[in-house]
Amino acid sequence: MYEYRAPRRDMQFVLHDVLDAEAGIAALGRDDLNRELIDGIMEEGTKFAEEVLSPLNWQGDQEGAVWDNGNVRTPKGYKAAFKAFTAAGWTGTHAPEEYGGQNLPYLASIAAGESFVAGAMAWRMSTGLTEGAVASLYHGGAQAQKDRFISKMVSGEWTGTMCLTEPHCGTDLGLMRTRAVPTGTGAYQLSGTKIFISFGEHDLTDNIVHLVLAKLPDAPVGTRGISLFVVPKRKVSADGTPGERNGVNCERIEHKMGIHGSPTCVMRFEEAEGWLVGAPHGGLAVMFIMMNHARLGVALQGLALAERAWQAAAAYATDRVQGRSLRGPQFADQPADPLHVHPDVRRMLLTIRSLVEGGRVLLYQGYQWQDALDRHPDPAVRKAMEPLVGFLVPVAKAFLTDMAMEATGLAVQVHGGHGFIRDTGVEQLMRDAKITCLYEGTNGVQALDLMGRKVMGTGGASVRAILTEMQRSMEAAGAAGAMVPAVYTAEVRRLGKELAELTAVVAAKAPQDPAEIGAASHDYLNHAAYTLLAWCWWRTLAALPSDAAAEWAEGKRATARFFFERLVPRATAHAAAVRAGAGALMDVPAAALLG
Ligand SMILES: Cc1cc2nc3c(=O)[nH]c(=O)nc-3n(C[C@H](O)[C@H](O)[C@H](O)COP(=O)(O)OP(=O)(O)OC[C@H]3O[C@@H](n4cnc5c(N)ncnc54)[C@H](O)[C@@H]3O)c2cc1C
Repeated sequence: MYEYRAPRRDMQFVLHDVLDAEAGIAALGRDDLNRELIDGIMEEGTKFAEEVLSPLNWQGDQEGAVWDNGNVRTPKGYKAAFKAFTAAGWTGTHAPEEYGGQNLPYLASIAAGESFVAGAMAWRMSTGLTEGAVASLYHGGAQAQKDRFISKMVSGEWTGTMCLTEPHCGTDLGLMRTRAVPTGTGAYQLSGTKIFISFGEHDLTDNIVHLVLAKLPDAPVGTRGISLFVVPKRKVSADGTPGERNGVNCERIEHKMGIHGSPTCVMRFEEAEGWLVGAPHGGLAVMFIMMNHARLGVALQGLALAERAWQAAAAYATDRVQGRSLRGPQFADQPADPLHVHPDVRRMLLTIRSLVEGGRVLLYQGYQWQDALDRHPDPAVRKAMEPLVGFLVPVAKAFLTDMAMEATGLAVQVHGGHGFIRDTGVEQLMRDAKITCLYEGTNGVQALDLMGRKVMGTGGASVRAILTEMQRSMEAAGAAGAMVPAVYTAEVRRLGKELAELTAVVAAKAPQDPAEIGAASHDYLNHAAYTLLAWCWWRTLAALPSDAAAEWAEGKRATARFFFERLVPRATAHAAAVRAGAGALMDVPAAALLG
């Protein structure tokens, strides 16, 4: 069993050498957040993750959350960690200052954020969801609602949930049945059943603030008829004092494949008192404000789990000795050589490492763009960020979570049969990773969002913006860029050109058959991801500090080489699948397909 150690050196390298975080954050008007402060936030957060959270990961998985007659008990240690986390102010990192938060741009605390998930993903969901609920209330709620709820959520006295899913309605929210009836007093009575609600009930706080999607009596059919409501577990008086229980109860919790410490609740609303957030039928618009942030948050979960898998695999491949190197014994004083001498084990290790470290550049870049979109003082810059963020978010969410499945699966494989045994802890990472591909819009839905809304819906403008930005940054690298092997530069350009061609191929076919968009989406997204990752590895090489320790820089160069020689060819297969079109998928009648 390996405890998590935050990859501080790589985090700092990405933040400062690749992304120049200090200058980017200063451009947002926050020149108080200098490098020293950014590193200080990283240091404090990663220490908390290593010392407090990482030991909870295994414990939480073994014990799991327990339902008891409507109450939910979280695993041992969850409460104390929650108290320490909130006391240190981490729940308010991005929250508005007027409600006790610190209003930091995401990039300033992203390294801490990554390590919180890697430390104990299931535990982190309690505070992560609350941050999402706070942001939705802040952007969509009336002043009185903000004043009543936000401070207590920021301070950690209360937590928040997002209640969307129902038994018959997951991806297709238009099928929603939960009803909200006006009482005539300004409040509403909500009735219905929500399922899969993370931390819908727990013992960490006295009150829980549910953000619930429901339909008003006069709601139009479909997704245009959905409204958002705030429904506290305990009713709250105007001065913020919690009182009697509201009509919302946890019927049971699910028994799941992973994230056992995170209670996944079936919530029954019975004439529960709630208040409308935003305009009637405008619930999805409020949720959409938070969509990018939430999806980047799930991408971060994928990255963090893959990082933890990398650490376990690298340590095991060093400790475990089996067989001899094909080139002759490398450790003649030992009965056998360590696993890492074998080419196939190196294939697995380098696959994980190249995806994790390339993925970190991609995701931190995404957060930097998101910060500029949210906060840059120049409206023209904010506008320019829209297509970049729009394109990157579904790619990062789907690719980095699928990548987490690959990385954690490979980490199990590196451990051999021992990886299948609970005590090594790597099988937990694999089980925990799967949910990241499913919630916050399944990865299939992300691909459809990219291909349909972001690419076809903008006439290709978003992909053109990404390709232009790639080219601009490579030209801006100047002499440092010229040091990158020319073959990699040519490869990034080739991939970009191919992505533009694939866009044109789908655009030409889609008017005749809209199914072409759905048929191309998964492979198009993956081609885009490998293109972006190739760019990220190119930037990594261009940013390597000249005074970097020789072994560290050699490790980076070797990992980049593996990525370009061994993983970039995957893009060719995805391109072929996009070009093949919808025929192989759609020509077969359902009866013949399903037997
Ligand atoms: C552990 C856990 C925690 C969760 N936490 C929360 C939470 O806190 N709050 C909350 O509201 N929900 C939560 N969810 C629910 C989660 O967001 C949904 O499970 C998810 O949105 C998918 O919905 P579904 O399960 O109904 O699948 P479905 O919508 O039935 O999809 C099934 C399959 O069909 C595909 N599919 C569906 N429609 C289309 C389409 N139009 N085009 C192409 N493919 C399609 C999907 O990609 C998927 O592969 C959680 C779920 C789990 C398991």
